[in-house]
Amino acid sequence: MGPEVIIGLGSNQGDREANLKSGMERLARLSQIDKVSSIYETQAWGGGDQPDFLNMVCLISPNFDDPHELLKALKQIEVDLGRDLEDQPNSPRPLDLDILFWGAKVINSDDLIVPHPHIEQRRFVLEPLAEIAPDFRHPLLELTVKEMLAQCADEGKVLKMH
Ligand code: ADP
Ligand code: MG
Repeated sequence: MGPEVIIGLGSNQGDREANLKSGMERLARLSQIDKVSSIYETQAWGGGDQPDFLNMVCLISPNFDDPHELLKALKQIEVDLGRDLEDQPNSPRPLDLDILFWGAKVINSDDLIVPHPHIEQRRFVLEPLAEIAPDFRHPLLELTVKEMLAQCADEGKVLKMH
């Protein structure tokens, strides 16, 4: 069995639901999709008065062993779905794809940080994650998803849709 690779998807521009669906379809060409969370409507994090996001997470078995290869493929999907290459972090986007975890691997390169920073502070990640991987352990914090959620102080809106 390969590592548990967990991807976060978010959209707060255009037809958000359709963007998530297209993202999942594209992801399914790169990897086996093992588990998929519900979709949540969430308040934009640190982005002033940006529109709300739809967020979800999924557990996948990628077709490649190199996390950078997956990152490259994810960035291509973001661009294909209309994301402006020049946009700033925290700006509205049709689709944001993040590698949240790659098993217990820790990566700190210029363009890839795994585990994705601040997961433990973000209820919009932890809530969907608790649906599909409650006992997955953060390799640096050594806390499970359930434990991180219990300790999370984030009070932004995270509303389960379906
Ligand atoms: P955020 O997702 O934090 O809102 P962006 O999506 O705008 O920010 O950031 C994009 C950049 O983040 C990418 O160019 C990518 O190289 C970098 N990055 C670093 N770590 C990761 C990761 N784990 N998953 C996805 N992108 C990452
Ligand atoms: Mg991103």
